[in-house]
Amino acid sequence: MMAETIPFEDLKKMDPVFGQLSFDNHEQVVFCNDKDTGLKAIIGIHNTVMGPALGGTRMWSYKTEWEALNDVLRLSRGMTYKSAITGLNLGGGKAVIIGDAKTQKTPELMLRFGEFVHSLGGKYITAEDVGMATSDMDLVRTVTPYVTGISEAKGGAGNPSPITAYGVFMGMKAAAKYRFGSEMLEDKRVFVQGIGNVGESLVEHLTNEGAKVVLSDINEERLQEVSQKYGAEIYRGDNLYAEPMDIYAPCALGATVNDQTIEQLQAPVIAGAANNQLADENIHGKRLRERGIVYAPDFLINAGGIINVYAELENYGKADIMRKTENIYNTTLEILEKAEQQDITTHQAAFDIAQARIDARKKDN
Ligand code: NAD
Repeated sequence: MMAETIPFEDLKKMDPVFGQLSFDNHEQVVFCNDKDTGLKAIIGIHNTVMGPALGGTRMWSYKTEWEALNDVLRLSRGMTYKSAITGLNLGGGKAVIIGDAKTQKTPELMLRFGEFVHSLGGKYITAEDVGMATSDMDLVRTVTPYVTGISEAKGGAGNPSPITAYGVFMGMKAAAKYRFGSEMLEDKRVFVQGIGNVGESLVEHLTNEGAKVVLSDINEERLQEVSQKYGAEIYRGDNLYAEPMDIYAPCALGATVNDQTIEQLQAPVIAGAANNQLADENIHGKRLRERGIVYAPDFLINAGGIINVYAELENYGKADIMRKTENIYNTTLEILEKAEQQDITTHQAAFDIAQARIDARKKDN
């Protein structure tokens, strides 16, 4: 499979594990394979200094195993910093299942995956991500307690996506306040790329506030459904980045802010839910700064979901969840101002605070 993209001779010259491009001192990476159910999964545990590694499971049709490994390494690292910046006692982890969630996800496969999670004894706690539903987490719960995001009927905090969307909305408002002088999004032209669980809920907040929302998705059915429900325009062009807009909200997959898109981007503000929006945090963070585009760091503003699942572990209620999520507004504003004062990227400003918290905890341990 890997040889499709990298010639074998070149592969032999590479360090396959610790030399992986996205390997960043991850504590543990677990490859899970089950012939009977067809399960092929990778669990990435990046860092457990702040607590157990918590992060969702993504099921996706990765083109190669390299792509899946790269994704889980990047995503699990992102979770470490997301929890640290949000002030949660959690480490960073994530899991990926290789396959099409629509056609290859079976109850047997999910149960087998749950057993692998259980075998880690709580060092990794799973949750929902792309390709997963609350019902999948309920199923996993039957074989392991190390799962969050189970349904409210079963005593869990339920679907985290609406809370994630609310946090993104708060972060977007803070970025608008910083860039346009007002947090009000009325009449702002906002492109929402990816109108899945989080994207749709974000569209609801935006339309309620009177923003001019434009929808983009690869799923035509979703486009029709969400457009009709909220009266939002559908984008029919083939290069969204070059369109005039006030805010670009990436809510599909990562790395959409890259060498190609960044030069064309017309939006003065980027604020969305997708993880790892910058293809390269340093290069693209700096380029955005040079171009005067305000970037609300993804791992900061999409933390509503993790706040929601953390509540399940800590047993705190909806009011606390909403208060903590609403606070994303203040933190975002602080980070944007700090970046300006220190002449660093917004990503770096958020990252530095998170890293300082992890270092302080390490010293105490
Ligand atoms: P989802 O699977 O429900 O929705 C993703 C949507 O993006 C789908 O409608 C899909 O068709 C669309 N899409 C895929 N590729 C696209 C493309 N190239 N262009 C346009 N649309 C495309 O996922 P979700 O739960 O809404 O999560 C969205 C993003 O937010 C993901 O990156 C996820 O990791 C991140 N995130 C989600 C949560 C959460 O609580 N669900 C929390 C934090 C971060």
